[in-house]
Amino acid sequence: MNANNKWKIAIGTWEFADEAVEKAYFTEELKNTLSYLRPIILIMGVLYLLFIIPDYFVLTNQNFSLILVNRLVFLGYFVFLYWKSKNFEKVESYYFWITTTEILAVLFFLSVFIMYKPANFLIQGFGVMIILQAFFFVPNKFKNVLLVSLLTVALFLLTAFYVIEGLVLMEFIAVTVYLLLVLVMSSITFLRTNYYKRKQYANSQAYLHLSITDHLTGVYNRQKFNAELKKAFYSFQNYNRPFSAILLDIDDFKSINDRYGHLKGDKVLVEVSGKIDQAIRSTDILARWGGEEFIILLPDTQLEEAIEIAERLRNLILKSNFAGVAIHCSFGAASLEPGETEEDFLNRVDGLLYEAKRKGKNQVSY
Ligand code: GH3
Ligand code: MG
Ligand code: MG
Repeated sequence: MNANNKWKIAIGTWEFADEAVEKAYFTEELKNTLSYLRPIILIMGVLYLLFIIPDYFVLTNQNFSLILVNRLVFLGYFVFLYWKSKNFEKVESYYFWITTTEILAVLFFLSVFIMYKPANFLIQGFGVMIILQAFFFVPNKFKNVLLVSLLTVALFLLTAFYVIEGLVLMEFIAVTVYLLLVLVMSSITFLRTNYYKRKQYANSQAYLHLSITDHLTGVYNRQKFNAELKKAFYSFQNYNRPFSAILLDIDDFKSINDRYGHLKGDKVLVEVSGKIDQAIRSTDILARWGGEEFIILLPDTQLEEAIEIAERLRNLILKSNFAGVAIHCSFGAASLEPGETEEDFLNRVDGLLYEAKRKGKNQVSY
């Protein structure tokens, strides 16, 4: 569990170096983001249309209806995006649609700018600053935001250069500098925020991991087992999905400690749990129940199958060495019966384990 490596943030992109971690992080981030981003998308579309009001009073040329059409098309696109963003199945598709939308928004803005007569360079410059702010506000890959923003500034300045009549050089230079400053400062804020968000995510994941993991062996702890047992119990009651559990206890573990020392005993515990973990399905929950006892929750598993698994584990452990020590274990296996509470069930499994011990150890009771 090289926790430090897993949560490493790459310098430059300021994203998690591990792609799977980055994806998991952004998927969670996206869930939170979309809840407020979607209404904003609609509001933006409507606002863009409402700009037709100043257009009406300011415009003296014939382009009014063209601009109205432009604004209506833009609103239409944003309504589409609002619908589309209901479920971005993949993080990649979010990145694609957001970036595409930003480029389209700039093109819409510039097309109005070209049609606007008379166009005011400074007012449009303020507009571009707001647009840049909006780009840095919306979660996206930094390189996408940076590219779109640079493209926006370049296209705006180029368009202004050709469209504005009597452009004042000093104003042109000032707006260029201001826009670049906005870009730099927004980039820094964007990167800082994203960096700390990822740090926080990494911390919360690390704590989450700690809270469900057994210190010594690295398998789940009892709390996690109980939480999973509750879920399985719920599925049994509501969807009739069976589940089973296997409780196992290392036989005569005290004598192993006595003979080889506690540290060796600890190693045996680590290796036994590792071996069991490898031998079960990824959907099974292996937890340390306490001391040298482990419990396995087997979702969607009937008793016969649970007995087979317990037998398989018993043989596997019997045939293996753990830190050079040969051991064997006793097992209790049961599946939940109708009418049984979680506590009844656990007591029954516990009783079965003791039955296996009583009958001479190294066996499965059910
Ligand atoms: P039985 O076959 O009846 O299970 O005998 P046993 O000796 O395994 O059972 P008992 O419950 O008498 O002893 C369990 C031992 O497990 C005693 C305790 O010192 C040891 N143990 C519990 N937790 C740990 C641990 O974290 N590390 C080590 N090394 N030993 C532990
Ligand atoms: Mg024991
Ligand atoms: Mg014990």
